[in-house]
Amino acid sequence: MKENLDGRLTIRFEHSKKEADVPLSTLVDGAVKFLEFYGNAQFCGREFIAVTGQGNGKTKLAALLGATGYEADAMGFFSAVFGAIGSARAQHLVVNEITIPHMLLVALLERVIPGHGYLSIKNPQRLEVTTNLDIPDDRRGDLQKVMDKYPVRLSRHTIRQMMVSRDVAYQYMPFVEELGSVGHVNTWIGQFHEGLLEQMYQNRVIFLLNMSCPVYCRFCFRKHKESRNENNPTVEDVKAAVKHVADSPSIKEIVVTGGDPFLNRANMAATIDGLMAVDHVQTLRLATRSVAYYPDLFLENEKAYLKYLKQKSLELQQNGKRMELATHFIHPDEVSPEALDIISDLVKNGIAVYIQTPFLSDCNDTGPELVKLFHLLRGAGAELHYIYIPCSPIHGNSIYWKSLSDGIYMAKHLRAHLSDRVMPRICTATPIGKMDWHTSGWAVERVADNENFVWIRTPYTPAYFKVFAPLTEKLTNIRTNAEGTIDIQYMAKIGDDSLLLGERPVKVAPKNALAMDADVSALKEELIATCQTDVSMVETNIKGLSRLHETRVLVDADGVEKEALAYIAEDSRITDVVVTAREDAMDSLYVISKFVRQLQDISHVNAVRLRSMAFATSPEIYTLGVVNTLGDLNRLSVVNPLRLEIETWFVQDQEVQPIHAAVARRLNNKGITVYANVPLLGGVNDTDTAIHDLAYVLRRSGIEFHHLYVAGLPVQGQWNIKHPVDSYDVIDIATMVRREGSGREIPRYIIATPLGEVDYGLTSQFIRQGDALKIKLTCYDTDYYRSMDPRFCFPKGVDQDLDGHPVMELPGFVKTNDFPIS
Ligand code: SF4
Repeated sequence: MKENLDGRLTIRFEHSKKEADVPLSTLVDGAVKFLEFYGNAQFCGREFIAVTGQGNGKTKLAALLGATGYEADAMGFFSAVFGAIGSARAQHLVVNEITIPHMLLVALLERVIPGHGYLSIKNPQRLEVTTNLDIPDDRRGDLQKVMDKYPVRLSRHTIRQMMVSRDVAYQYMPFVEELGSVGHVNTWIGQFHEGLLEQMYQNRVIFLLNMSCPVYCRFCFRKHKESRNENNPTVEDVKAAVKHVADSPSIKEIVVTGGDPFLNRANMAATIDGLMAVDHVQTLRLATRSVAYYPDLFLENEKAYLKYLKQKSLELQQNGKRMELATHFIHPDEVSPEALDIISDLVKNGIAVYIQTPFLSDCNDTGPELVKLFHLLRGAGAELHYIYIPCSPIHGNSIYWKSLSDGIYMAKHLRAHLSDRVMPRICTATPIGKMDWHTSGWAVERVADNENFVWIRTPYTPAYFKVFAPLTEKLTNIRTNAEGTIDIQYMAKIGDDSLLLGERPVKVAPKNALAMDADVSALKEELIATCQTDVSMVETNIKGLSRLHETRVLVDADGVEKEALAYIAEDSRITDVVVTAREDAMDSLYVISKFVRQLQDISHVNAVRLRSMAFATSPEIYTLGVVNTLGDLNRLSVVNPLRLEIETWFVQDQEVQPIHAAVARRLNNKGITVYANVPLLGGVNDTDTAIHDLAYVLRRSGIEFHHLYVAGLPVQGQWNIKHPVDSYDVIDIATMVRREGSGREIPRYIIATPLGEVDYGLTSQFIRQGDALKIKLTCYDTDYYRSMDPRFCFPKGVDQDLDGHPVMELPGFVKTNDFPIS
């Protein structure tokens, strides 16, 4: 760049009435560094990198200046950019038809208004000065009332993001509609509460270690001032809660939360150290949103807090326990290199990071933003856990509410366009506990005479609560239904009335007889010998390459052709590559290593998944050398990640042995996730207790329960035709796993078909005609398949509905009543 960089730019912030006088060289340096490190498709999008091209940061900036009409005129370019930011017009900033990436704008703002920490803001004037966002005069009076009632707190990191992203500002800026009176004061009924400990479930409790957060989300269920100003518990309180856990052998998991528990280091230390000594505790789940909105908390002082966590995680492991970190992300504009750095650092050190996402109207409710968000987070090593629909129906947050059907139908977009490994569970947190849509619960009917409430069928029973919280006996907003589970009134609109499913009839079909041991062994042999998920949904015309999904291909490691790599490279929608081998992926490590290194050059691929039946059958082959080799291939990084995962399969709980836990832990400590798929087989494992027991041992062993295939796999073909799985049992299974297990044990309930996998009850629909059963894949249509193969035609035996969705038979699966999902 030949331009003289001695000049200074005066930036005027119109609403805060501040000025900044910044050397041009500082801005150029900020842009060059950003473009050099993060100026790729992952962070800036493909259109932008088509403008900036390849090369170093300087080359890219020069190209950007030229394309935006400011060739060799950095001063002109930054004047335009900061003119827009200064007048609060930089939400989706376009300069000469080039959209400037949000992350680049944040990086530039870090040079202009640097700083860490967070601020409590008491009045609209101060808010305007701090954020430079426009606050109309006629709203100030009401806004003051809002801020008096619901406090405002922002981190400097968040303020920079808010200045250039409407979707971040939307989450944290107070608004006058908060004065509305609809909604609850509290969203849960507090089944059991003692000091800082709350218990909603038999096997896990919540520790509330700290009442405030560094940033206050406007949709928060604790948004009332009284909640924010509660006294924090003391270390003595923590010790009392630890004693309660020690005296309660049924408690296996502790969710450590607040507010943000990481703001209270003394309580955090007392919690971790105290629970370390309690034998029956298995998992500590530490919940914080600071990863997204206050990453400095973890990164300051040379990552001191991260180092502390990693050390404590090792100590917990030595005591047979594990640490996990739960965090919230809502919109891709919140994702920062700092957040990805924290996630990948933790995952690389064996601390699973899982994401929960409230579903917010007018923010993350159309689909593509969630696909982008989850894609970014997955690369860094995160797991996707829940989407909460709707967000808490609490006072003053009604602008964020969506109808239940909007959230449920979101599954269709996600299933079609998102990697199956990051498909979240679509869940509602009812006042008595969580339920998962169309597996462990559903909407039954409207509450009579109250259009704002819906009866939701939950997986819980009165007996479940009796053990620890007889409080539910006194509630008037619940009822026990004919099948013995509890329906609860929930404040939400249903949206589409056809999703009011009514009560489930009583089961009439007989259960399968228990399979003989020899048959079970034969089925397991078949599972080992035959890849269960290699059917290509469209033609690839490449030997050894199957297209399993828009985002996913399966490659035979023993014969990877150049054409396969070219196919993957050409389609930027492909994010996941599943690798199989004739024997086992671990027997072909040399070839696979070479292949993975080639994939590292394809930036849109961010996960390689090695199918290894040997993990299940011969875990001892995962020697130190194998684990180290895999660890070297695993690239959990902020930029162009390529994470490695091991896929294995189990059928019954007794197959999972201590050695599996030991090997999974070694792999986890290299940042490698092991996930298991399970085929549901009639008379073998098609009962609620069989799957619950399996889910429990998998979690105990550090293996993620990914898919429970209820129908459609080759191994289910012949066997389940004679021993059919009943859809009724799927709901029973989901009900027990949700009620009795940890939320982290819940698999996705999947139906495999030649035209792609679908979610039971969410992205598929049963069509019952007499004894015949067909299934409609509601998330895929003709256009979807043709986007991958323009010559695609539906195969023989597949019909289309009027919208182009495929409809086909589902052998080995029966429905014994007309209830839509059971
Ligand atoms: S981080 Fe959680 S607890 Fe804190 S304000 Fe946001 S939603 Fe509320």
